Amino acid sequence: MQSVKQTLVLVAVGLIGVCLDGVASPARASVVLQYHHVSDTTPAATSVTPDRFREHMDYLAEHDFEVVSLEALVEARRDGKSLPDRTIAITFDDAYSSVYTEAFPLLKKRDWPFTVFVNTVPLDQNKSGFASWAQLKEMANNGAIIANHTTHHNHLQRRRDGEGEKAWRQRIEREVVEAEARIEEETGQSHKIVAYPYGEYNNEVKTLLKSLGFVAFGQQSGPVGEHSDLQALPRFPFGGAYGDLEDFATKVNTRPMPIDSVSLYADMGRQSPLKEVVVPAGQRPVLAITLSEKALAERINCFASGQGAIETRVEGETLITRANDALRPGRVRYNCTASSGERGRFYWFSQQWLVTDQEGRWVHEQ
Ligand SMILES: [Zn+2]
Repeated sequence: MQSVKQTLVLVAVGLIGVCLDGVASPARASVVLQYHHVSDTTPAATSVTPDRFREHMDYLAEHDFEVVSLEALVEARRDGKSLPDRTIAITFDDAYSSVYTEAFPLLKKRDWPFTVFVNTVPLDQNKSGFASWAQLKEMANNGAIIANHTTHHNHLQRRRDGEGEKAWRQRIEREVVEAEARIEEETGQSHKIVAYPYGEYNNEVKTLLKSLGFVAFGQQSGPVGEHSDLQALPRFPFGGAYGDLEDFATKVNTRPMPIDSVSLYADMGRQSPLKEVVVPAGQRPVLAITLSEKALAERINCFASGQGAIETRVEGETLITRANDALRPGRVRYNCTASSGERGRFYWFSQQWLVTDQEGRWVHEQ
């Protein structure tokens, strides 16, 4: 039996926890999960095994997470409404067949909504490895949202050789609008929610999709908070090295970094602002986060893809960070995290960069 003294100490610690929580982190957390394959036999980097997927879903059920539709989550963010803390939305990209054969039965049993982002051309071609339209319709009739991943799964921000701005704009508009139309023809749904192929975007892509009335998800990590950009909402991808139960628990329990503003610069002195997330190889672009909670800046750690912990500096309420080494072509993310004051829960913010070669050309990797 616990002594009275021990009990009092526990109560006191509990109260401190509650107070810290109330002061430090008013923002509630919504987390969007991103999966591709749920299979033992598909490429590891984009797969979780059926056992692991079941483990993830069991964890959500056992820890009282509320699984909501992606549309409910987007609407809450758009209308400034708050959702319960520990709200989750589940998404799958590319409509691979294992979503139907492995994930759907589990989710249906729990009566949990989920979203499938579809690139329509492989489905129209009955390509093997992908779900069929009939299967998508069946999932749609059982609570799934069928959303837009464009027709062709191109890197949207890349222009083709000799393609002018107007031609590029018309092509991307077609790839988005036609996919939405095909989804509506086959399933009756049109939610106007896009997941960018490869999670890649630049300002022009964001502006174009906004003008067409779409909100959009990337695949930079982090929970959705009140300051999240509706044209580049974050998700936590699982697959490959990411998704053991410890990693999963950390991510689903994250809270949005309490941010006032985010600025990008070419230099640590913040003299040269960057208008774009696209940078040539060789640079070490700077991320500056102004926090709504001053003391937090000192507690933040930042990491860059492939570089581990990176240089940070605090100036007032602003945390300034950049990669240690010159960036190489491809997608690079700076992830910044800090203890939220609530046990096991971290504030999390991620900034994506798209790095071209030194001459500004896209390097053709996936
Ligand atoms: Zn995809």
